[in-house]
Amino acid sequence: PASTGPISVAEYMREVLTNPVSGYYVNHDMLGPDGDFITSPEISQIFGELLGIWCVSEWMAAGRPKQFQLVEFGPGRGSLMSDILRVFSQLSAPLGGAEMSCHLVEVSPRLSKLQAQCLTGDQSQVSTNEDDPVYRRGTTTTGLPIYWYRRISDVPQGFSIFLAHEFFDALPIHIFQKTEKGWREVMVDVHPETEDKLRFVLLPSATLASSTLLQTDEKRRHVEVCPEGGVLIQQLACRIVEDGGAALIMDYGHDGVKTDTFRGFKAHKIHDVLAEPGTADLTADVDFSYLRRVAGDRVTCIGPISQRAFLKNMGIDTRLQVLLRHCQDPSNQAQLIQGYDILTNPEKMGERFQFFTLLNHRRLTTPETGEGLQKRKGPAPLPVAGFSELCLR
Ligand code: SAH
Repeated sequence: PASTGPISVAEYMREVLTNPVSGYYVNHDMLGPDGDFITSPEISQIFGELLGIWCVSEWMAAGRPKQFQLVEFGPGRGSLMSDILRVFSQLSAPLGGAEMSCHLVEVSPRLSKLQAQCLTGDQSQVSTNEDDPVYRRGTTTTGLPIYWYRRISDVPQGFSIFLAHEFFDALPIHIFQKTEKGWREVMVDVHPETEDKLRFVLLPSATLASSTLLQTDEKRRHVEVCPEGGVLIQQLACRIVEDGGAALIMDYGHDGVKTDTFRGFKAHKIHDVLAEPGTADLTADVDFSYLRRVAGDRVTCIGPISQRAFLKNMGIDTRLQVLLRHCQDPSNQAQLIQGYDILTNPEKMGERFQFFTLLNHRRLTTPETGEGLQKRKGPAPLPVAGFSELCLR
């Protein structure tokens, strides 16, 4: 900021998190007990297993298309994908015949290496050509082709289930405040007295962002907007309309009511967002009302619903009982129960985390069968697993 004047919070976040040389995600393995934060897939295998069932359930409800791409954004250490792939290989009979493939969108070459170790047993090849949209490729330990990309536009078109767990919260936000003169943007600037310190400033005049990103009927006086999240939702909606499929977004967030959620995490503690940039994770709650508005009416949006409700609807209680029955070691049993509690307890991750899905309109309309005069209604569509109680047929 010293030479450029104040920068937006979004530019600051992008620079701190994903700068190719010094970015937080590029240089850190931030997940797990020794990292800065821990996520649901790292806490319990059940999380990924239930999501694996969700993916298969949506693929079946779409009429079992021949092509089945599983796409994950920001896969971290690869734990979620690994648990899902185990479920897929156990469900090889119902999945039989589908041409399955795995696609990961990840900015960090360092994390892509960890993901490849976890998912391919270190049998992956890095592209030597910088212009290649696929920067790493391999075969999963379960036998599926797997590819790594930097952005969604590089992922091939085709029927896809898209998953984003704790991904949207890492995308850059703009911050605005309502003043007597209208909306003004909060920016990051160097401190006038101490050059090596940063501070927030409120710009005296409007910016392009402050005049375009807010709703005219906005009731809050402080608002965070994530336009990159909006662009990603538009890209997902287009693909779901054109190629079929579904997207599941899982993150901490709210439905358009919260303010001032921008924060930092270092070693599992809250960290000043402006101090020692690049050493701590920066994050903001996801505003699902914004994502729904951007998706528009091209796709069906369901949610957000709480993680607790979603996992209960997916049968987490039954799954826990099955695992406990198969496990003799008391310390493993205790760990399973503790993981279940962290994921579902309303005081822990159960209520703060929300699930939101984008679906192709066809998914919830009753198909017409037969020709001409014989036209009649086909079977009613299957309920969307997780968002209503799962009927096991
Ligand atoms: N989904 C994992 C990891 C969450 S951390 C879990 O829940 O455990 C966020 C992940 O998104 C990391 O893998 C990070 O490298 C990646 N990421 C962050 N910003 C990104 C961007 N703009 N494009 C692609 N990947 C990004």
